[in-house]
Formats: sequence, C-alpha cells, structure tokens
Amino acid sequence: MGKFVLDLRDLKDGKSTRSLVGDVESLDLSRDEYVFHSPVRVELEVTRSEYEISVVGEILVTAQVECARCACVSTREIVADLRARYIRVRGKSDWNGRSEHAGVFRIQYDEGVVDLSEEICQSVLVSLPMRALCTSDCKGLCPSCGANLNEGQCSCRRTQSHPAWAALEKLKDIEGQ
Ligand SMILES: [Zn+2]
Ligand SMILES: [Zn+2]
Repeated sequence: MGKFVLDLRDLKDGKSTRSLVGDVESLDLSRDEYVFHSPVRVELEVTRSEYEISVVGEILVTAQVECARCACVSTREIVADLRARYIRVRGKSDWNGRSEHAGVFRIQYDEGVVDLSEEICQSVLVSLPMRALCTSDCKGLCPSCGANLNEGQCSCRRTQSHPAWAALEKLKDIEGQ
C-alpha cells in the first residue's frame, strides 16, 4: 500500500484530521526546473457523511528550483491546497472512478481506502508558477557574456532592442556569413 493512501475504515462520521508522510519517489511528481525533496507532508481534514467523503488539506514539500532566467538554484518551500470529494455509491461497481468533475470521484459505499497520490501530484503541479524565477524581477543573464545581471551590470554594450529583434539580427549575421 502506498504512503499517500487514506484509510477510510477507521473514519468516524463528521470531521477528523489525518497526516500522511511519504517519500517523493512514491509520487509521479516531476517538472523541469524543480527537484522535489522528501518527505512530502500532507495535512488533511476529512469529513465523512452518508453520501460522501470530502478531503481538504495542505501539501508541504521542499524543492530545489532552478531560475528560468538566471539559472541560479535555490531551495523553496511549496505549499499546495488539496481538495477531493469521494461520492459513496451503493451497489454499482461500474461507477467506480473519476466523475466528469475534476477532483470528484465515485467510490463504493464501503470502500476501505482511497489513494491520494495522483491528486497530490496534480495539486502540487498546478500550484507552481508558469515560470520558475528566483525573484519576480530577476534580471537574468547577459546574452553576450553570460554575467548574472542581478549581481551588477556587465561591461557589454547595452542594446535596447527587444530580444526577438536581437534573435533576428543574429540570424541575419549567420546568413551573411
Ligand atoms: Zn533568477
Ligand atoms: Zn555582458
């Protein structure tokens, strides 16, 4: 049984809290620029009723992040929200699985466990910004000499042109040779 499996058998009606801790290796968690570290902690509030089991919580994991602009590496704490609902269905075994709504699943009424691994991965990945940056105003690297412009201006001649134009200029240079 995986580490991120919620045991439903000892759940009482109403709210209870659960903590899950496991290795990042047991999750299918990967994205460029991020190296996730163990352990992954999940703090959950679980609410059980006659009709459904709802799970609301927080996922805590640290990751080594490479900035997409300056390539510096830093360690960051990532906190992601987790939400999932498991609708308890009596008797229809073909109803098991994902419903048409994100984060909503159908389970057998007397289901013993639910595996949260996939939801945990999804929640962490959507919580990450589109581009991994060390700071939102990271100046990046000089395109000519590679100096980290966060540490100061390099001695290269400053071009005012847009990066797209610079790329075009470069292409022209290559064609001209
Ligand atoms: Zn940066
Ligand atoms: Zn430079």
